[in-house]
Amino acid sequence: MYLIPFMKFTSSTTSSPSTATAAESSWSTGGFWAAAVRLGIAALGVLILAFSITLRSQVHTALWVMAATVGGGLFITWLVHFLVRRRLRSPLQELNEVFENMTEGRFDLPLTRETARSYPELAESLAKMSVLVSGRMRHLKAQRDQLRTVIDSLVEGVIAVDEDQRIILAGGAALRMFGLSESTAIGRPIWELVRYPQLQEWITQALEQRQLIQGEMSIHSPEDRILAVSVARLTGQPAPGAVVVAHDITEIRRLEKVRQEFVANASHELKTPITSIRAYVETLLSGALNDEEHREGFLRTIDEQSERLDAIVRDLLTLSHIESEGANLEEIPTEVGPIVTRCEEHYRPAAERNQVSVILKPPADPVIIAMGEEPLETIISNLVDNGIKYTSAGGTVVISFRAEEDRGVIVVEDTGIGIAQKHLGRIFERFYRVDRGRSREQGGTGLGLAIVKHLVQSVGGSLDVTSQVNKGTKFTVSLPLGDPERIV
Ligand code: ADP
Repeated sequence: MYLIPFMKFTSSTTSSPSTATAAESSWSTGGFWAAAVRLGIAALGVLILAFSITLRSQVHTALWVMAATVGGGLFITWLVHFLVRRRLRSPLQELNEVFENMTEGRFDLPLTRETARSYPELAESLAKMSVLVSGRMRHLKAQRDQLRTVIDSLVEGVIAVDEDQRIILAGGAALRMFGLSESTAIGRPIWELVRYPQLQEWITQALEQRQLIQGEMSIHSPEDRILAVSVARLTGQPAPGAVVVAHDITEIRRLEKVRQEFVANASHELKTPITSIRAYVETLLSGALNDEEHREGFLRTIDEQSERLDAIVRDLLTLSHIESEGANLEEIPTEVGPIVTRCEEHYRPAAERNQVSVILKPPADPVIIAMGEEPLETIISNLVDNGIKYTSAGGTVVISFRAEEDRGVIVVEDTGIGIAQKHLGRIFERFYRVDRGRSREQGGTGLGLAIVKHLVQSVGGSLDVTSQVNKGTKFTVSLPLGDPERIV
């Protein structure tokens, strides 16, 4: 850019020195000195004069030329620099954007042709890397989703915490068990959300020690549950955390309790007649055999107690049979009428003894139930037997049945002693009796209604009871109707 004045210098030396216009037209710093050399002292005076006259305007012009020259040069330099820079910066910027997108997990930003042309190798490597990384990311995501699904579908509640006991992962069962929501649980200390000192202690122990910690704990929120918990330290140095696995054992414990109670009750029920039988046998053996007045009475009691023992064992066997195999899996249809008549006949002597009338109210059309004969008879027998047992002299037991849509409904209603409301929910439990003395006196085993309930449930039926003390009790059994074509 600074060459321009010297080019002017060259042009001034070729023009005529005698013409002022030529001299003036080539006015410049370089032109002045060339003229001075050529024309000598005389010309120098003229030139100095001319210079002095035009000095101001010439300097002014020269300064403008110089400024314009410098400015133009600067502008061109900047322009060249700008264009070069733009050409270089644009692909780099683009590459940078692509990398930034990749770090955010987006691999779908293609490079422009210009960038690919400018940096072909880099563009190729980038494309390869993009395919590789996006593939790995997809694979990792699929694995993570798979793991999440597995953890969520586990019955056990799984919670993983870091070394500061902050929750890093919580499975669906764990969230439900402890009443947590994943969005608020992740990242928070477990002791802030699950406030059971026992659990905190186990986690602390697991983080400090290497062994697996196991125990049982009860929680009361969102509902009462018993949990079998194991806490294991996650491997790594230092321990990166611990994993808590909680198994809901509430139902197992409840069943264990029921079983324990059942065994205790059954033992007690069996022990009573056995004790009685043994006592009378011992009495007879120690001399009462010769006691003509009492020995028959003793033997009668032994007979009654062995009958009672037999009844309990039979009922226990029936219950165990229903529980293990169901009532009648083939569901052979049975007509209700003949079974009800048979039951009435069977219990007539007992009813007469208690001075209770048993009344049958059969419908006009036969009712066929999808249940075998034996279990149906067991249901009706137990209800009729109870009606007679718990109704005072002069009372009645009415047996009716009908078909209702796809159900056969059997109703056994008595005018007996009734059952207080507080006992109604429990009379179907094994060995539960409202009045133990009266039940025993009547030869009850305490298992009749438990058997009825199990049989009804085994065919998808339902059982309902309503009662009023001293007014009477009504049992309603609803069973699925059977196919008349299949009746045997
Ligand atoms: P149990 O052999 O003692 O009769 P169940 O299981 O048949 O045993 O009945 C349980 C208890 O329910 C009975 O002990 C009795 O207290 C009560 N109960 C059953 N049926 C009747 C009824 N029809 N009227 C009054 N109480 C009844």
